[in-house]
Amino acid sequence: MDHAANLLDFDRDGLTAWVQSLGEKPFRARQLLRWIHKRGAADFAAMTDVARSLRETLATRAVIESAPILRDGASGDGTRKWLLDVGGGEAVETVYIPEADRATLCISTQAGCAVGCRFCATGAQGFSRNLTTAEIIGQLWMAERMLRPAAESGTPGDGDRVISNVVLMGMGEPLQNYDAVLPALRLMLDDDAYGLSRRRVTLSTSGMVPMIDRLAQDCPVALAVSLHAPDDALRDELVPLNRKYPIAELLAACRRYLAHAPRDFITFEYILLAGVNDAEDQARELLRRVDGLPCKFNLIPFNPTAMSAFQRPDPQRVRAFAEILQEGGIVTTVRRTRGDDIDAACGQLAGQVRDRTRLVARVRTPVLMEGTA
Ligand code: SAH
Ligand code: SF4
Repeated sequence: MDHAANLLDFDRDGLTAWVQSLGEKPFRARQLLRWIHKRGAADFAAMTDVARSLRETLATRAVIESAPILRDGASGDGTRKWLLDVGGGEAVETVYIPEADRATLCISTQAGCAVGCRFCATGAQGFSRNLTTAEIIGQLWMAERMLRPAAESGTPGDGDRVISNVVLMGMGEPLQNYDAVLPALRLMLDDDAYGLSRRRVTLSTSGMVPMIDRLAQDCPVALAVSLHAPDDALRDELVPLNRKYPIAELLAACRRYLAHAPRDFITFEYILLAGVNDAEDQARELLRRVDGLPCKFNLIPFNPTAMSAFQRPDPQRVRAFAEILQEGGIVTTVRRTRGDDIDAACGQLAGQVRDRTRLVARVRTPVLMEGTA
């Protein structure tokens, strides 16, 4: 099986082209999509409505494989974290976060990250490599299989789905791996694959302005932007990509994005670092900057990492900051960490891996939560 294709690498168009290269009709791609992504099949022999001869060809030409699991950890609060082996000594992680009204999967898009944000464990590790589409969508495929062990038998309908929301907030900068991320997003939205509404899929970016514009054209899922500072001098320090795409350009890209997704809003993520970006004046400056832009703020009290000198502000300061935004008319949530007992809290993983597990805690007024559409 020298050049076996991994069918997890293909979205609908890719799979159609691939089956046609075998001399098969395009509708085979739809059958395969449904077997692989709706039912979680890994074995061609199980695909009973596919002609036997084709099943045999597939078995010699293709595989359906996600990255091997190195560790599988469950937390007392229901959070579950998988550490995946992506080869070359690199590992990435996927985190499952069940809540009362939804179940979110947080997935990674790169091993390491080249952006180098000062507070982030992944940034400190540096960039190793881009994940492939199979490694990205494979996290959702694998998690559904693990959480829904009967997937391969029977004919699960949508009601059997476990994961209702996906966030691209694990390791890596998704818009610096656009070519692999886009087919994965398309599979998440495809009715013959995961069938998630585009508001239930959130891509988080540190601010790759040209790619925000491409995403608006190609696949306008919910957008989260990691802002972290109200002015360029500070953001240049915290998020080095700001030197290339300063705040005014980033906010202009956000406005353009919403023109493609009119009833949507941008979620601004804002990590709170004691004495650095948590002053009341900075909250007021944020209000001025985002004036007129439909948005929410998601405040993330810093999770200490081994190599970082920053500190988490005390809860009163977090509350004061949130209240200024709220009083300015912006829906604001404060993220509460989950999964501490399995080391699955934001930015806490030692060495090469960490994640963004979080639960939104209500600050004061009732809030709209990410992906409630
Ligand atoms: N690269 C993308 C997506 C992955 S990071 C981005 O930066 O948006 C997802 C979120 O986790 C970002 O908002 C990031 O700022 C936050 N984060 C990183 N390190 C953290 C830490 N130590 N504590 C809390 N949040 C952190
Ligand atoms: Fe990369 Fe996001 Fe970490 Fe910044 S916060 S280093 S962009 S993963």
